[in-house]
Amino acid sequence: MRLYSLEIKNFKSFCHKGMKIDFRPGLSMIAGPNGSGKSNIGDSLLFVLGTRSSKTVRADKLDDLIHNPANGDKKVSRAEVKAVFVEDRDDESFETVEISRTIEENGSEINSTYFINGKRSKHSEVDRFLENIGIQLDSYSFVLQGDINKFIYVSGNERRKLLESIAGIDAYNMRINSAKEK
Ligand code: ATP
Ligand code: MG
Repeated sequence: MRLYSLEIKNFKSFCHKGMKIDFRPGLSMIAGPNGSGKSNIGDSLLFVLGTRSSKTVRADKLDDLIHNPANGDKKVSRAEVKAVFVEDRDDESFETVEISRTIEENGSEINSTYFINGKRSKHSEVDRFLENIGIQLDSYSFVLQGDINKFIYVSGNERRKLLESIAGIDAYNMRINSAKEK
């Protein structure tokens, strides 16, 4: 499967009008002036696919991810990102899977909800989908700023852990450990 489109609404610098990006097969590049929101597009993808850490998407806390209008418009309380994946088949038919995630401020609470094909789903179901299509969120599928430096400077033990995660071995280790706990 490949990423087909990304819809971003009220997330970081993207306002209520939202933005939809269609990706063609092959390599896509995003270009634009400094501060125009290029990295925010990457952050929106990490967000919808369920990153557990707001630091990964360059925010101190989850509610910083909700669009804060600079033009004096009232701040909204809900952000939404939708990612559609497509599987192109040889017979020209195709299958799509739509993952979306919202965050909503409710007084002092902030709630995060996932949907798969419009049906409310658990975070673990999104994890399972990603695992099935070979995307590893906290591993080699996303190379973030500073990751390469980190790889060079970490201790041998840490580097081994990183390599195990890149090779996909750590996913099995985690399953073995959770089976042992049960
Ligand atoms: P560079 O070329 O410098 O890497 P960039 O195109 O990657 O820039 P981003 O980091 O994606 O830019 O976007 C930064 C902008 O996003 C800043 O102007 C920041 O104010 C804005 N921004 C971040 N969070 C929010 C938010 N919650 N509400 C409104 N704007 C936000
Ligand atoms: Mg950037």
